[in-house]
Amino acid sequence: MSQHQALPSAVYNLLTMPSNRAQRRFAYIIGALVTLISLFSVPFVRLQLGEMAAFQPAIFSTVVCFELITAYVIYSQFKISRLPAVLALFAGYLFSAGMSLVYILAFPRVFADNGLFNSGPQTSVWVYALWHMGFPLTILLYLWLEAKYRNVRFSARKAKLAGWCTFIGTIILMAVCTLFTTRYVEQLPTVLSQGQLLPAFVKLVGIPIVVLTFITLLIFYFRTKASTVTSTWLCVAILAMMLDVTIVLCGGGRFSLGWYVAKWNSFVCSNVVLAGMIYEFTKMYLNMADLFRKVKDSEYSYKVLLGESQQAERTISEQNTIIEQMLESSHEAIVMCDTVGRVVFANRRVERFFENPINKGDCLSTYCQGMRASDAAFKDVIEAYFNQSIPPFQKRISRISLSGEMKHYECYVNPIIDEGADTLRGHLFGFRDRTEEERIDEMKNEFVSIISHEIRTPLSSIMGFIEILATRNVTEDKRAKYVETIHKESMRLSNLINDFLDLQRLDSGRHAFHFQTLNAAHLLGEIVDQWQGKDNHEIELHILDESPFIHGDEERLKQVFHNLISNSIKYSPDKSKIDVFVERENGCVFIKIQDYGLGIPADALDKLFARFYRVDNSDRRKIGGTGLGLSIVKEIVEAHHGKVLVESELGEGSIFTVQFDEYKEGLPTI
Ligand code: ADP
Repeated sequence: MSQHQALPSAVYNLLTMPSNRAQRRFAYIIGALVTLISLFSVPFVRLQLGEMAAFQPAIFSTVVCFELITAYVIYSQFKISRLPAVLALFAGYLFSAGMSLVYILAFPRVFADNGLFNSGPQTSVWVYALWHMGFPLTILLYLWLEAKYRNVRFSARKAKLAGWCTFIGTIILMAVCTLFTTRYVEQLPTVLSQGQLLPAFVKLVGIPIVVLTFITLLIFYFRTKASTVTSTWLCVAILAMMLDVTIVLCGGGRFSLGWYVAKWNSFVCSNVVLAGMIYEFTKMYLNMADLFRKVKDSEYSYKVLLGESQQAERTISEQNTIIEQMLESSHEAIVMCDTVGRVVFANRRVERFFENPINKGDCLSTYCQGMRASDAAFKDVIEAYFNQSIPPFQKRISRISLSGEMKHYECYVNPIIDEGADTLRGHLFGFRDRTEEERIDEMKNEFVSIISHEIRTPLSSIMGFIEILATRNVTEDKRAKYVETIHKESMRLSNLINDFLDLQRLDSGRHAFHFQTLNAAHLLGEIVDQWQGKDNHEIELHILDESPFIHGDEERLKQVFHNLISNSIKYSPDKSKIDVFVERENGCVFIKIQDYGLGIPADALDKLFARFYRVDNSDRRKIGGTGLGLSIVKEIVEAHHGKVLVESELGEGSIFTVQFDEYKEGLPTI
């Protein structure tokens, strides 16, 4: 496994931390050095060297210490990895440490002539044998457990329990081995005589141990490929142990060269793994310190970045809100579609315009079903656009609202192109309500036709009579009649133009009202006097004893009542009576103008105040008018926060009622 593929947890575990080439090279050099020294010493193993009595206890003190420390370090790795196999290694080193302690204690003439257990020279040989047999066996156990329980990890509680069990089990095993090799040593074959190992040792113990160790080394190497730091150094340790026993087999007594080399191999075997581990620990610590610094640095950079991105997020969200508010406050209905015509965004005005909820993902052409473009169904137009059969367009469309009214819109569409990436992001549809414009257009057309009719008729009559007067000799009577007709027609023309201009002024809001307190009875009395006797009509004014006051513009209100009274005279040609009432009720003033003339058909009542509307029937075709009078009345009354109502029956007459709030403050000015 390469370093890059290592699991994050493996990096912090020496047993699983991958070894690199340099580490392996270093371990092989040590292994080669141990082998070379051992091999070179073979011919000289029996060479007797100087006696160093303290050599053995000194070496074994360090061996015991190193192996105990190694056992502890391995146990600490077990606490991290909690892999069962690691416990075998821990047991191996613990056993090795214990047995090397027993070995040195039992060795004759180190602490006591007959060894500390007083069991004779055979004991240390058998302890040595068990020790050197136990270690490779624990390595094999490690390999087996590693293969079998590779994916097993103890829980923290089980790991603790397993650790203690292993520890106690190993101690018991060591105690049994010690007991066996001290108390019952007599039962064992004799392997040492006069300080020399007997062939029985070679056959029964030496060669089997070397073979066992060698096989262990081979299996261990080929199974692990020295791929981890620990396995690399364990290879060296097993090798050193094998060489230790091999040198012993070659003979040589105490303080011979072979004896010293074997002890040196024991020393190497005990500390090489620990040395490797300490070295790697140090490196790991440095790496972790470096990592910690980097983590701290990146934590700081992360915080800075987070701050910036939060700021950016806030800005984006603010911008989004502004864009949304802009789109929502637009007077146009706006729909954004994706490239295939599915709705991505629609402002609320869309629902208001088309009286139908619209959702993200809706198909726009389906949504627009029932609308008409000037030349085709609008649905087909949209589909054609998305099929790329037609280019971006601007079209007038119409639909019938839920209340049955015809609504008109102007629709335009534009592709949305991401200029940076030069890609199409979607399409933007805008709908503008032009129902009012359409109505005005219609009115204008109507106006033009009315004007052309209304103006042309008196104008041609004026021109005709002027021509007669200018070109022919006519009698005095006729001349007077013609001049009167010219005057009448000119008046009609002038009225039309005045009405039209009044309405224009009221419409444009340019008309300034001069409000004052008005006595309703006086106001009406003045107007009635002016119309009294007109076309044989008698107008009766019905007023209260105490006249109410209203607050209004005198001139404009006079215009209202002149209009209404002139209409009642005009549209009751065969009658001669008009009644005008001034009444008050619940804080309101009601002024009613009642005639008994033609009346108004019921179906015309709701259109009566529309501009240019005139009731069209044979009775009144010869009665001139512009169709603007009542709309002017309505505009003026509403500007006074009043109401104008009409009740009428065809052939019976009409009552026009104007309602104002009674004005109670201030003094009347007229
Ligand atoms: P016009 O100049 O035609 O009189 P108006 O706006 O004053 O215009 O009136 C609109 C229509 O209402 C008239 O054409 C007329 O048919 C009808 N009308 C108004 N007043 C009366 C009324 N007192 N009696 C019957 N019809 C009336």
